[in-house]
This record gives sequence, C-alpha cells and structure tokens, in this order.
Amino acid sequence: MPWTAWREAPITAVAPVTPRVKSFRLAVDFADRFRAGQHVDLRLTAEDGYQAQRSYSIASAPEAGGTIELMIEALPDGEVSGFFAEVAAVGDAIELRGPIGGAFVWGPEDGGPLLLVGGGSGVVPLLAMLRLRALAAPEVPCRLIYSVRGRAEAIALAELETRARDERGFGLSLLTTREGAGRRIDAEAVAEALADLGNPAHVFVCGSNPFVAAAADLLLGAGIAPGRIRTERFGG
Ligand SMILES: Cc1cc2nc3c(=O)[nH]c(=O)nc-3n(C[C@H](O)[C@H](O)[C@H](O)COP(=O)(O)OP(=O)(O)OC[C@H]3O[C@@H](n4cnc5c(N)ncnc54)[C@H](O)[C@@H]3O)c2cc1C
Repeated sequence: MPWTAWREAPITAVAPVTPRVKSFRLAVDFADRFRAGQHVDLRLTAEDGYQAQRSYSIASAPEAGGTIELMIEALPDGEVSGFFAEVAAVGDAIELRGPIGGAFVWGPEDGGPLLLVGGGSGVVPLLAMLRLRALAAPEVPCRLIYSVRGRAEAIALAELETRARDERGFGLSLLTTREGAGRRIDAEAVAEALADLGNPAHVFVCGSNPFVAAAADLLLGAGIAPGRIRTERFGG
C-alpha cells in the first residue's frame, strides 16, 4: 500500500506518559519497516463530514509485532490532540497514512556521533532514534539535550535516565526551564554536549518553531556545519 493511501489502524493500547501526554499503540502493516524519525498523518472525520488532519511522529523503533507507538500532547483547545486526550480508546479505528518523511531520519547505517536536541514533545521522533540505536547500533556515540518545563512534563524520563545510566556511549542533558534555577538551551549546554560527544556527524533538532530556531542558531554558533543539522518543527 503506498504511503499516500489512508488506512484504518485500530488502537491497541493507551497509557499516560505525563499529565498532558498519552501514548497510543496502533496496529499497522508497516510497523516493522519505517525509518526512525518518520511520522504519520492521522485524520478525524465528524458525522457531518468535516475532517481534521495532523501529523504525529512515531516514537517506537521499527519492530515485529505490528504496532507503532505515538505520543500525543493535549494542547489547550486542540482539535485533534483534544480528541486523543479525552475520547480515543482501545478498539477505536483511526484513519492513518504513512510512514512519511525522507530527511529527518536516522538508521544504524548512518553511524555517528549523533546529537539529538528536543524541546517538549519534540523528543518523540528522537526517542525512536534512541530506541533503534540501542537495538541495532549501540556503538554509535549519542547525546540527547532535552528541554522541558519541569521533570513531570518530560516524556519517557525514566527510560531516558535508565538509558543514560546503562548504555555505554549515551548521555542525557535534561534542561528544565521552569524548575530550579530555570535553564533554557544555551551555548554552554551545546558546548558541554560537544565536549562529551566530539564533532557530530548528524544532528537532529525537533520541537516548537521558537525552540528549533533557537537551538539551530546555537548549533551553528558552535561551529557545526549547516549540512549536518536537520530540523523538524511541530508548530506553536
Ligand atoms: C512532522 C510533525 C510531527 C509531529 N509530531 C507530534 C508528536 O509526536 N506529538 C505531538 O503531540 N504533536 C506532534 N506534532 C504536532 C501536531 O501535528 C499538532 O499540530 C498538534 O497536536 C496540535 O493539533 P491540534 O489539532 O490539537 O491543535 P489545533 O486545534 O490545531 O490548535 C490549537 C492551539 O494550539 C496551537 N498549536 C498548534 N500546534 C501547536 C504546537 N505543536 N505547539 C504549540 N501550540 C500549537 C494553535 O496555534 C492553537 O492555538 C507534530 C507536527 C508535525 C508537523
């Protein structure tokens, strides 16, 4: 089936991730063959025929078993995210197409060092890369700079901290903007990551428009070649 074709994907599991983010598992036939970093489009159709369509990154690594994981943050008055926060349940069939995205992708064959920079829910496609790295290329040096308001809003924090403790060659810098002294991503955070990692072969930055713009400026300011930096903007 081409990626442009809409198909129905049943929700097989729903779980809270943070107070505002839920994880959804959907059964789809490409669950074992997409690239980490890709996303899907979801489409909702009201009884009167009105349709709303949004993109969501895949959080899981490609795996046998036939499901993908999405992580959807409830935005205030969000049309589609509100449906997922309040209505969507196991057994619902969701219209979906994908996998989509040819540039914001990483695989073991691409190697490293790998620098991942995420803000808020922008960590979701980076999580797919981290999960794939652990499964298929644990020798690739990798560092994640993750900016969140507070620890309670950090997606998959327990998993990330466990990986940072147990996986050789993976380091995590968690920056909390509204907790403790409050720290946004800055030149020092980038310099610390680069001192640990060396010159990255691939840099992936994902988050809201302002976060991606700020992070990309800092990375360029640190001397990383523009061609090595790939960005994905979630909006906002
Ligand atoms: C490639 C791609 C991948 C994405 N992956 C994810 C993902 O994995 N998880 C996830 O939660 N979201 C993701 N998004 C964002 C998602 O597509 C929607 O934009 C988001 O869920 C809001 O849709 P909505 O219908 O709920 O809100 P809307 O009804 O469209 O908007 C509600 C309000 O929120 C504002 N708004 C819209 N989008 C954002 C945003 N991203 N940040 C802050 N404010 C916003 C609007 O300006 C408006 O005020 C991704 C976006 C892209 C382009």
